[in-house]
Amino acid sequence: MGTYLITGIGRGIGQELARVLLLRGDRVIGTVRDPDGASAEWDGFIKNGQLKLLSLDVRDGGSIKEAAKRLDEPLHVLINNAGIIGPDRQSTLDMDFDGFLDTLNVNTLGPLRTVQAFLPHLRRARAAKIVTISSRMGSISYAKSDRIAYRASKSAVNKVMQGLATDLREDGIIAISVHPGWVRTDMGGSGADVSVQDSADGIIKLIDGITPGNSGGFFDWQGKPVSF
Ligand code: NDP
Repeated sequence: MGTYLITGIGRGIGQELARVLLLRGDRVIGTVRDPDGASAEWDGFIKNGQLKLLSLDVRDGGSIKEAAKRLDEPLHVLINNAGIIGPDRQSTLDMDFDGFLDTLNVNTLGPLRTVQAFLPHLRRARAAKIVTISSRMGSISYAKSDRIAYRASKSAVNKVMQGLATDLREDGIIAISVHPGWVRTDMGGSGADVSVQDSADGIIKLIDGITPGNSGGFFDWQGKPVSF
C-alpha cells in the first residue's frame, strides 16, 4: 500500500485512477480545481481518511505550493494527470498563440511545477515514482500535424520527464511518461477505443511494475514502450 498524489481527479482518467487505487486500499491525495464541486462519491473515502482533497490549478505555481504545504507525509507516487487539449485553432498555418502558450503552461510546465513542489514529499518515500500522463500524439517520430499545440506540449513534457529521470536518479526516484490509450473521456470523446476502466487498470499495473531501469522511458497503458 502506498500514497499516491493524482492531479485532476474530478473526471476522466484521473477520477478512475483515484477510484481504483482507493478501492484496493491505497491512500490518495487527489487534486481538483473546485473542491466545492467535488463528487459526493468521495465522501466515504474522505471520512475514513483514505482520501485527502487538495485544491490547485497547475497553471498557478502559488496554488501548488500552498497545496504542498498542506501535506506532511511521504509520497510514493505522483501522477501528473491534469491536462487540456488546447485551443480550437492550433494548426501550424493558423495558430491561436495565446492558446498555444496556455497549453504549454498546463501540459508541460504544470507537471514540472507539481514535481518541484512535492519533491520533498517524494524524497521522504523510498524509491518514489513520478508518472506523467502524456500522449503518443507527442511522439516526434509520428509525423501527424493536427492539434500541433497539444502534440508539442506532450513532446516537451516527455523531455522534461526524461530530464527529471536523470536529475533524480541519485535520489532513487523514477520518472516515466505514459500514453493512456485513446480513452472515452470528455477529452477523448465517445468514439475512443479504450474505456477509462481499462486505461486506469493498465496504468496502475504499469506503475506497480516499473523499476529504476525503466526511468526516463515512455510506455503505453499496456506496458509497451512508445517511441519518443
Ligand atoms: P478530461 O478532459 O476528461 O479531464 C481533464 C482533467 O484535468 C480534469 O480533472 C481537469 O479538471 C484537469 N485539469 C485541466 N486543466 C487543469 C488545470 N489547469 N489545473 C488542474 N487541473 C486541470 O481529460 P482525460 O481524463 O481524457 O485526460 C487526462 C490526461 O490524459 C491528460 O493529460 C490528457 O492529455 C491525457 N490523454 C488523454 C487521452 C484520451 O484519449 N482521453 C489520450 C492521450 C492522453 P477540471 O474538471 O477542473 O477541468
